[in-house]
Amino acid sequence: ATERKALFLFFGGTGDLAYRKLYPSLFNLYQKGNLRSHFAVIGTSRQAMDDDKFRAAVRKSLADSGNRADSKEVSDFSSHFYYQAHDVTNTAHYSVLKEAAEKLDKKYKLEGNRIFYLSMAPQFFGTIAQDLKSQGLMSTNKDAFNRLVIEKPFGRDYDSAKQLNDALSKSFDEEQIFRIDHYLGKEMIQNIEALRFGNTLVESLWNNRYIDNIQVTLSEKLGVEERASYYDNSGALRDMVQNHIMQIVSLLAMEQPVAFTDTDIRAEKVKALRSLRVYNVADAATNFVRGQYGSINDQPDYRHEDNVPEDSTTETFVAGKLLFDNYRWSGTPFYVRTGKMLADKFTRVDVVFKRPLVDIFAFPQSQNTPLAANVLTIFVEPHAGFSLQLNAKTNDAGFSTEPIKLDYLVDAEKSKETPEPYERLLHDVLKGDGTNFSSWPEVSYAWKFVDQIRRVWDLQEPQFPNYTPHSMGPAAAEELIQRDHREWIYRL
Ligand code: NAD
Repeated sequence: ATERKALFLFFGGTGDLAYRKLYPSLFNLYQKGNLRSHFAVIGTSRQAMDDDKFRAAVRKSLADSGNRADSKEVSDFSSHFYYQAHDVTNTAHYSVLKEAAEKLDKKYKLEGNRIFYLSMAPQFFGTIAQDLKSQGLMSTNKDAFNRLVIEKPFGRDYDSAKQLNDALSKSFDEEQIFRIDHYLGKEMIQNIEALRFGNTLVESLWNNRYIDNIQVTLSEKLGVEERASYYDNSGALRDMVQNHIMQIVSLLAMEQPVAFTDTDIRAEKVKALRSLRVYNVADAATNFVRGQYGSINDQPDYRHEDNVPEDSTTETFVAGKLLFDNYRWSGTPFYVRTGKMLADKFTRVDVVFKRPLVDIFAFPQSQNTPLAANVLTIFVEPHAGFSLQLNAKTNDAGFSTEPIKLDYLVDAEKSKETPEPYERLLHDVLKGDGTNFSSWPEVSYAWKFVDQIRRVWDLQEPQFPNYTPHSMGPAAAEELIQRDHREWIYRL
């Protein structure tokens, strides 16, 4: 592994995400040798704490993540961690941070490379970015890098996203900004490109002549849990569709990039999103449906969860149909759905091919059932793999056909070696590879699409609750696809 030199500054360094994902991921990179002796971490948040206490919390976070490294390795790693109390809204505090950064840069010979990771409420992103620049925290060494990593959500509509982006752009160039979408760090999402562009068999059929429709499902089993106050202001459309689903869909829909580089891939994703049809009011109302979960047994409905207002109209489920107006996809819809409190926790993509134009097995005397559609399923999680449904002859004396499946599942041992999304994404940031992050044009097209749907929904009072927990959402999600004489491949 190549060792990368950098100083990490984590804003929100005592938060849930930092302890649960970011520090364990850094440790994995350390164990693999991507980080060795030339790195240091400054954790910041408002509370007072000394380095020792912070290091102990970091070590605990590694243990909690299940890493059973020996204690020497863990303590060597945690010795690179430093804590600085810092209120991000107080400009004067940044000079203290600057001194600490310069000291560590010298001590660990970091050559001025800096990664600023904002793991806190987005309302602070603009201020932080501005002060990082105005207070001289960004390295001025011309061979060094300054990179800004930001968590979701990126705005709550196009206007607020644009405002946020304008604020960030005053300090950082687009190539320096890494917008996290952790779905892009998932093994099987990255595999979409390998599957498509590495296989003639797949890519030659990957268009509206052979594909009838594509279905993307991000299903969650749990309800809103502790995130209610955030979630109730967001809802499934903003929380899942605008970012994760749009990213997955653009990888499925894009043209072949000239080369496998971040610039080329982004260019194709942006082109795909530009041809996504932005609905007018009437079409948004027919092509998107929403839901909110009801109660079951002694489990409360969404409106009676802690921190949710009793008249909340926030959707916990959304399903919709996306149409691309381009040569490859015209006439082939993409159906998407996501929600909380559904039957199971999984993410999958089902690519449904057209049936043969002529079914020669359906001659008059034949008892044969009509040929099934070929379906290519990409299992993203919890199990990673592919499945291809084909028609084959039944193994008997007569002649009838039946659907069979070619399955490839990544085995459990191998899955354990798969890097966590955050590990992969942090490694990408260290390398300066923006492939698996959302660029501003992608984010802005996604918001413009989503805003139209929100606009329509905000005009109508929904009939909530409208779906039973542990189902696959409201009846409207079934009607949405049945209206087109199709059905969801994954069904109960
Ligand atoms: P959190 O509330 O656990 O942590 C927030 C951190 O910010 C804490 O360290 C807190 O002390 C600090 N902070 C708050 N106000 C401050 C101020 N004025 N000055 C300095 N520090 C301040 O949040 P989290 O769950 O870790 O989430 C962080 C970010 O990551 C958010 O943008 C969130 O949307 C995103 N995110 C979180 C998760 C997750 O699983 N937790 C998943 C995806 C995205």
